[in-house]
Amino acid sequence: MSSQMLNTRRTKIIATLGPATSDADMVAKMVAAGVNICRINMSHAVPDQVRKTVETIRYVSDLLKKPVGILMDLQGPAIRTGDLPTALNLQPGNRIGLTVRGEVSEEEHSVDVNYDHLVDDIKVGDVVLVDNGEIHLKVLSKKRNQLSCEVLTEGTLGSRRHINLPGVRVKLPALTDKDIHDVELGIELGVDFIAMSFCREAEDVLKLKAILDYRKARQKVVAKLEDQEGIRNVEDIIEVADAVMVARGDLGIECPYEELPIIQRRVVKDCVMAGRPVIVATHMLESMIDNPSPTRAEITDVSNAVFEQCDAIMLSGETSVGKYPLKCLEIMDRIASRVERSGGANYAMQASMDTKGAKMLKAATIMAEELNASALVVFTRTGGMARNAAWLRPKHTPLYAFTDNDRLLNQLTIHWGIQPLQMPFAEDPSMNVDQAVRLLKEQGLLKSGDTIVAVTEVAVRDRLVDTIWRESVE
Ligand code: PEP
Repeated sequence: MSSQMLNTRRTKIIATLGPATSDADMVAKMVAAGVNICRINMSHAVPDQVRKTVETIRYVSDLLKKPVGILMDLQGPAIRTGDLPTALNLQPGNRIGLTVRGEVSEEEHSVDVNYDHLVDDIKVGDVVLVDNGEIHLKVLSKKRNQLSCEVLTEGTLGSRRHINLPGVRVKLPALTDKDIHDVELGIELGVDFIAMSFCREAEDVLKLKAILDYRKARQKVVAKLEDQEGIRNVEDIIEVADAVMVARGDLGIECPYEELPIIQRRVVKDCVMAGRPVIVATHMLESMIDNPSPTRAEITDVSNAVFEQCDAIMLSGETSVGKYPLKCLEIMDRIASRVERSGGANYAMQASMDTKGAKMLKAATIMAEELNASALVVFTRTGGMARNAAWLRPKHTPLYAFTDNDRLLNQLTIHWGIQPLQMPFAEDPSMNVDQAVRLLKEQGLLKSGDTIVAVTEVAVRDRLVDTIWRESVE
């Protein structure tokens, strides 16, 4: 890895790729600007495109010698309107029929919906929210296969728009047929993370994990919390997921919006305390889809997430279709780097770190901070030691995680503060430390006389060797 590619920012940045950011040149600029993980949104991407995008990201990552994670974000059990030959220009007072099972409507406008239970789940007088809550439709009457609605808010309705039914437990499976096909594609392409949309309970995560286990696949599962049920079950979900996303786009529609900051803080706090990576997503720099500068409110929003010490912050439309993707990255990087220097919420201080690995890293982190060490170095084959190293969110010590596993290398990109590096492991742990020091010196990240703390717990000839080292670099 070239040293200019190592960034000192602790909070990781996830950028969604799309039409504005699909060619190799642009992906390379984004990675150079600080993207740690590229997200592919399966609500919009088709398989051939996904293959090409994954190839491009891997090519750029090799070229720049920088690990880049790939996150495949499944569409999930989303209710959507069907295809329309032309977009509908809806005005307040217009009538629109929402039909199921291909029913023909007599209303002035109509669109079919992919959810057969729509009519049963909705009452006359309810409001249906369409296109991320942009268009509000009031239900006036119901027939067997149709809701007749009045348009309350102006909007243009295009094809395949998302419908939210706040508080309704949608009777769709956690993984739709499309999701299962997409998971197969993700496994085939070796993506690093698979995000599960509308994750409602721990069982949902376990279903995806069972598929991955059966296929002996190693993808990490990100549980997206997007509705009230997911929030109710958050503790169980945190326990079984590899990472959690506060998906504020849908959450902000499915829950009363004044609850959103409270939910975000609670989920981030619970995840940080549990040592579970957590992502804060959506609308972070939304106005920059069209404008070159963020609003003051957006700057504050990004800085709050960084202060809460989430592992990663995410850009969606800002980088997939926006006019200023590189500017968004520069701004996120500046805000995150500055806020990190000013301190954080330190929720992890209240964590009970009760596994042996966590205790070792707790001791090592305190030692590194006390000694003003130039590096806390861990060696990991499963990612556990990197997760533990990030857990306490040390304010000063740079965190380096070495692995001999190139798949894991890209998965380490999600952890707060962790700089992933690859090297083959020797049988003797002290040789690993020597080699790591040599590599960090070559990158200009350590110099003679620096103090480091290194923790190893890697198997040596089937024997686990636990060591905490404190070294002065020769
Ligand atoms: C969200 O709702 O915030 C989100 C990330 O999900 P998606 O963009 O896939 O709807």
